[in-house]
Amino acid sequence: MLIVQKFGGTSVGDLDRIANVAKRVARTRDEGHDVIVVVSAMSGETNKLIEYAHFFSKTPQREAMDLLLSSGERVTSALLSIALNEMGYKAVAMTGRQAGIFTDKSYTSARIDRIDPAPMGNAIKEGRIVVVAGFQGIDPDGRVTTLGRGGSDLTAVAIAGAMGADLCEIYTDVDGVYTTDPRIEPKAKKMDQISYDEMLELASLGAKVLQNRSVELAKKMGVNLVTRSSFNDNPGTLITKEENIMEKPLVSGIALDKNQSRVSLKGVEDRPGIASEIFNALAEESVNVDMIVQTIGADGKTEIDFTVPQSEIERVKGVMERFRESIGEIEYKEDVAKVSIVGVGMKSHSGVAAKAFTTMAKENINIEMISTSEIKISMVIDEKYAELAVRALHEAYELDK
Ligand code: ADP
Ligand code: ASP
Ligand code: MG
Repeated sequence: MLIVQKFGGTSVGDLDRIANVAKRVARTRDEGHDVIVVVSAMSGETNKLIEYAHFFSKTPQREAMDLLLSSGERVTSALLSIALNEMGYKAVAMTGRQAGIFTDKSYTSARIDRIDPAPMGNAIKEGRIVVVAGFQGIDPDGRVTTLGRGGSDLTAVAIAGAMGADLCEIYTDVDGVYTTDPRIEPKAKKMDQISYDEMLELASLGAKVLQNRSVELAKKMGVNLVTRSSFNDNPGTLITKEENIMEKPLVSGIALDKNQSRVSLKGVEDRPGIASEIFNALAEESVNVDMIVQTIGADGKTEIDFTVPQSEIERVKGVMERFRESIGEIEYKEDVAKVSIVGVGMKSHSGVAAKAFTTMAKENINIEMISTSEIKISMVIDEKYAELAVRALHEAYELDK
């Protein structure tokens, strides 16, 4: 079999842990498999590099930023390769460029356009273990790009898809995917399996155990994806097609995203084209607008509220300056959280949303915004109640049972 194994930041967090990873990879090799390893930077490393850049600039030059950020993963891939060679295994470390990962030019959140299977394929034919630096690629101009936070998951899935791997294992610091973040709710239960769609919602809504784009790609390419712990041999969680899952729970999990800010535009001119102007201007600055709520206008004025990632709020403020004439008052609330309930079972059951609202009411938590889709309900609340809300919802939907 060809197996792709990805190790996250905590799993390669120090030299002893890298040695531990080397042993696990060697074991897989000893079982007779071909192995491509993808590594993250040591935990905290990417954040540290971002801080370094922010010492000089609030809005650092994006090409330079990607060159900087890609360095963390290079360190761990080289170290792991050195460790494996010392143990008597033939290993080769590759940067994104060397591994043939080609992306577009959207620095800091680049998309993978294609992967050249030759460099990794040839190394495997020579009997080598390939160790790829995650989270990075190369753009058409030959500049280094990075794939967005958590992007090593995407590297692993994309390689698994392109190389036709039989399995893609994402090794992390928890035993798999839980009903909610086990650090917030210790009663959270590990799931044996979950559908691509539910996992995609959970990941997109804040459950960072898997990067959302990696799940999307795994679904598209039919990659067999497993998340498991690098610290034990527990079986982990299989992410698979919905039809493979026999028992479909009404609600599968609760996700929390504390990295949200709310923008309220009050006294907006109520005329055709205004929303288009505002949101096009935001899109041009690559702001990721999430929830949008517009209230019914009165006296020629209306109110528009929307959420954006906290890290993009400075860009939003810059854009909004241009609309001083057509907007009465702009309010920024930087510390809001989005709590979401996800489950495919919602499609066929009513009352799921009502239960969420009742649970918030019982805890005296004010819901500031609501949005729903077929398989999720999201609520924006004050960040200080975020953990309380997650635990209350987890109990209300009996996810601990
Ligand atoms: P890695 O560095 O291995 O990529 P991450 O920190 O990105 O690991 O993701 C693992 C973390 O995701 C866990 O430590 C856990 O706190 C968090 N997490 C959030 N939601 C969930 C969930 N539903 N199930 C499991 N872990 C979750
Ligand atoms: N090191 C990168 C990050 O912290 C990518 C990753 O770990 O997946 O976001
Ligand atoms: Mg991660």
